[in-house]
Amino acid sequence: MIRIAIANQKGGVGKTTTAINVATALAATGWKTLLIDIDPQGNASTGVGVSASAREYSSYDVLVDQAAIEGCVMPTSIPGLDILPATVDLSGAEVELVGADDRAHRLQQALRKDIGYDVCLIDCPPSLGLLTLNALTAADTLLVPLQCEFFALEGLSQLLQTVERVQQRFNPDLGIIGIALTMFDRRNRLTDQVSEDVRSCLGQLVFETTIPRNVRLSEAPSHGVPALIYDHACAGSRAYMALARELITRLPEKRKAA
Ligand code: ADP
Ligand code: MG
Repeated sequence: MIRIAIANQKGGVGKTTTAINVATALAATGWKTLLIDIDPQGNASTGVGVSASAREYSSYDVLVDQAAIEGCVMPTSIPGLDILPATVDLSGAEVELVGADDRAHRLQQALRKDIGYDVCLIDCPPSLGLLTLNALTAADTLLVPLQCEFFALEGLSQLLQTVERVQQRFNPDLGIIGIALTMFDRRNRLTDQVSEDVRSCLGQLVFETTIPRNVRLSEAPSHGVPALIYDHACAGSRAYMALARELITRLPEKRKAA
C-alpha cells in the first residue's frame, strides 16, 4: 500500500477537495483506495457522504485508543473507496496524547500491516501540529495543494522545513510526490503570475496539471458526493482525473507491496 499525505498548514487551499477527488479518481482506476480523514472538521468524511451521525468509529479511535484501523473504516457509496472518518473529538487528541512517547507514530503503527488497500490518502488539518505530524510520519510521500495566491510560497517554505525535520527525526523515507496548483483562474493575472513563479522556483516538483477554480468543485460537498460523481465532465473533475493520472506515473512500483 502506498501512503500519501495531503498537507498544507494553510486552510482553504484545496486539501480536502484534492483528497476526495484524487481518491475517487484512483478508485475509478481500479485501485482499492482508503481515504483517511484526520481533520477534526471532518470535511472529507462529509464530502464522501458520511454524515456526522453515521460515524460510529473514527480516526480518533485509531490515534488515541489504538483501535485496529480495519474495524473503524466505513464503505462509501463510491465503489473501491472506503473512509476512516474524523469526528470533532479529534480536536482533543493533541492534548490527550501529550504524555504518550509514541504520539507521533500512532498512525504509522496503525498502517504498518497490510489492510488490503492499494493506496491510502490522508487528508490533514490546516496546521503543522501533532495530527499532521502523524500523517507525515506514516506517509511514504506528500502531496501539497498550493493555492495560486500571493503568499503561497511563504507558507510552503515552512512546510518544507517541517518535512526536513520529520525526515531527520521520524521518517527518513518521506518523499514529496508533487505540488498541485489549485484554484487557478486564468482570467486573473495574479494567479497566472503566481503559477509561473512557483513553476520557475520549484520546477519538476510542480504537477503539470493545474486545478482550475470551478464552482462545481465547491458545490459537490453539499451533495455529499465528490465532484467527480456530481459532475464528471466539469473542468474541475477533468483536472482531478488528469492529476490522478499524473500522480500514478510518479508513484513508485509499490502499489501492491505491504
Ligand atoms: P482545505 O481542505 O485546504 O481547507 P478545501 O478543499 O476544503 O480546502 O477548499 C476550501 C473551499 O474552497 C471549499 O469550500 C471548497 O469547496 C472550495 N474549493 C476547493 N477547491 C476549489 C476549486 N478548485 N474551485 C472552486 N472552489 C474550490
Ligand atoms: Mg480540509
